[in-house]
Amino acid sequence: MEEKINEIIKGAYDCHIHGAPDVIPRKLDVIEIAQQAKDAGMAGILLVSHVTNTADEAKIVSKAVPGIEVYGIQVLNYYTGGLNPEAVKTALQLGARRIAMPSISAANHFEHEGKNPEDGITVLDEKGELKEEVMEIINMVADWEGPVALTTGHLYPHESEIFVTEAINAGVKNVVVTHPEWGLVNMSVELQKKLNRKGAYFERCLYATTDMGGKLDPKVIVDQIREVGVESTIFSTDFGQVPNPTPVEGMRFFIKLMLENGFPEKDIRVMIKENPEKVFGFGRE
Ligand SMILES: [Zn+2]
Repeated sequence: MEEKINEIIKGAYDCHIHGAPDVIPRKLDVIEIAQQAKDAGMAGILLVSHVTNTADEAKIVSKAVPGIEVYGIQVLNYYTGGLNPEAVKTALQLGARRIAMPSISAANHFEHEGKNPEDGITVLDEKGELKEEVMEIINMVADWEGPVALTTGHLYPHESEIFVTEAINAGVKNVVVTHPEWGLVNMSVELQKKLNRKGAYFERCLYATTDMGGKLDPKVIVDQIREVGVESTIFSTDFGQVPNPTPVEGMRFFIKLMLENGFPEKDIRVMIKENPEKVFGFGRE
């Protein structure tokens, strides 16, 4: 089994890793993350931060650890001005491969933490339609010529439904629902299937199965992949938290989980290599 995992992890991408420096302690710094992924034979990583744009940092990490592709994200939380088209424009210019709707500043996240959801960010206006600035961001991403994906962050499922639909209608090629099975998001399989038919991807994150993440039974991830489909699945660890295993260990765990559940190697490669490569544009300028 271990040897098979060593083989399958080669060429894989992990598109959701939290590293130091950050405002909270992280297990590894961004250089260590890149080095470990490279040592495991992985082809690339995408560094995520809730509080800052990581596209510039990713370029430096790329230079410090040659031989692995490293890209960054802009998450639209309060720390960079919320739903801020200027932040998106700058991130795209810096080469960010991922533009994410609010995560820890989302109304849904506030509610989940027992705070007033009205103090958090929603992408919808009082009429239940996408806010003007969100459409501006969607159109900017649709018009961007380089590779980039739009992801849903920690939005409520009903917000994600409208956001994903409008983004696809506007011509955004890569639209990803982030950890739909995680307790905080908890998007129904029915809605996932509906968005799958429109062309959305689904990023399944191992973080949900950890103690901090709510101890989701890994079987739920397996079942939802079966129900919604391998073809639209991207696997990411969302690791980097101090008590959790390293991102590479998380990637290995996922491969093992899939093998134990009878997924053929070619399906595992779709989820950890082909889809991440296509959606986040690894191997392309
Ligand atoms: Zn995350």
